[in-house]
Amino acid sequence: MARRHNVRRVKIHRSYSVSEAAKLLGVSKHTLSRWIDAGLPLIEPKRPFLILGSELRAFVKARQPRKQPCRPGEIYCVRCRAPKRPAFDEADYIPKTPTTGQLAGLCPTCGSLIYRLTKTATLAVASGDLKVTRRPAQERLSDSAHPSLNVHFRRNEK
Ligand SMILES: [Zn+2]
Repeated sequence: MARRHNVRRVKIHRSYSVSEAAKLLGVSKHTLSRWIDAGLPLIEPKRPFLILGSELRAFVKARQPRKQPCRPGEIYCVRCRAPKRPAFDEADYIPKTPTTGQLAGLCPTCGSLIYRLTKTATLAVASGDLKVTRRPAQERLSDSAHPSLNVHFRRNEK
């Protein structure tokens, strides 16, 4: 996987020499000249070679690997850094607000809990063909009107 560079350090209104740009992004001057060969524009094609911050930022960003989007039925695993289909094709849906919630599952690779935020309206799309168990909303836990239910819910949460 290609390295991610911290493009936020690049100020868009500044211009950088090749060595400044290389230092800023933690790459070699050789890498910078490869980028220039590959189309990173110079302000002027003569020495000293200067690169406009906004161009540098756009160029590096375009080369960075994107975080892979999740397809229906997938949840992004932070530890594996990849979308995963939860173990047993099962996920819980935990409402957070009346219109949003999160799908929660188990990463089949590393066993981490994995979460995917979703809108209730698009839950069917996000969950794909997973078997989804709807969990009670979090606020129900503190609903003192039904103490016995609360205990029941708490046990289920664990
Ligand atoms: Zn994982």
